[in-house]
Amino acid sequence: MTKPLAQGATIGILGGGQLGRMLSVAASRLGFKCHIFEPGANPPAGQVADRVTTAPYSDLDALAAFAKSVDVITFEFENIPAEALDAVEYLRPVLPARNALATSQDRITEKAFLSGLGLNVAPYANVETAADLAAAVASVGAPSILKTRRFGYDGKGQSRLKTTDDAQAAWDALGNTPSVLEGFIDFSLEISVIGARSQSGEVVCYDPGENVHRDGILHTTTLPANLNTSQRMDAVILAGQILNALDYVGVMGVELFVTPSGLIVNEIAPRVHNSGHWTQNGCVIDQFEQHIRAVAGWPLGDGERHSNVMMTNLIGDEVLDVATLSKDANVGLHLYGKADAKAGRKMGHVNKITQIN
Ligand code: AMP
Repeated sequence: MTKPLAQGATIGILGGGQLGRMLSVAASRLGFKCHIFEPGANPPAGQVADRVTTAPYSDLDALAAFAKSVDVITFEFENIPAEALDAVEYLRPVLPARNALATSQDRITEKAFLSGLGLNVAPYANVETAADLAAAVASVGAPSILKTRRFGYDGKGQSRLKTTDDAQAAWDALGNTPSVLEGFIDFSLEISVIGARSQSGEVVCYDPGENVHRDGILHTTTLPANLNTSQRMDAVILAGQILNALDYVGVMGVELFVTPSGLIVNEIAPRVHNSGHWTQNGCVIDQFEQHIRAVAGWPLGDGERHSNVMMTNLIGDEVLDVATLSKDANVGLHLYGKADAKAGRKMGHVNKITQIN
């Protein structure tokens, strides 16, 4: 455990998208500065951060200079190349530590880790060759989903098999890359738990949110989720178990399927998570501040929810409805400052709050 960071210290963030932007805003409210490292020009986080370095993750000199300019390093996305981490982690602490990244970057490693904890995951099989594909189809069957082991997000890198005859087409559609075949789960609900763990090992979880996806992208998160007390408790305990097993520091998103035979872990994200955006208007200390507190060695907020919330993502030109949305006095608006409202692009979100009865 390092000394708590003093106000005025600088937090380095790898990645400059909307998550980096909202982390920077939270950090600045606590008196910290942020330095963003992002390969793309004009990142959303750059508009609100103290400093931005624009360089590719292969530029090890730029990474070293970035590391030397900050007190601690965190990240807003999980696909940071291992070489980039090598270049910074001997200079400054990186939190969460790379074991969490290594676990979640590869769906097979992730599932093996989760099963090793005794948690339920969908039936799965590794697919690296045509022979693996035949064996996977024989063991997992259909309906099922073939997913690339790495770099999948928002439903990308996935192909569904209605019957086992679809296997070859699915494998070709993904470009014959290393993949995992997952049995299709007939879930009643998708939920996620946003959990946090401090440097001293304190664990705090927010109430599970109920997620609805549209075209593979998160559409809404609703609190409270339609769960009974035991399901709610199971979800939170399971998230705590994952955080502790990884000796994790920071905020993590744990996505779960609710089924009649219990909870199944879909995936974990070692970062602040879209399904945790509701906390900005539903809790005193939101997921972004919670993450900054954790990596800064500060005490965590208690995660209590003071309101019911429905978070809705604004995708593409839905952001053009801001004039209407802003008329509702119970809607918190969060816009990411992105110039082009391209189809499928996350442009912002709204949190509609209502009183807890
Ligand atoms: P993922 O990228 O793994 O989070 O998957 C994106 C979405 O696809 C999930 O939120 C689910 O709605 C759906 N999905 C993924 N895996 C499965 C599965 N094994 N069974 C049923 N639906 C799934």
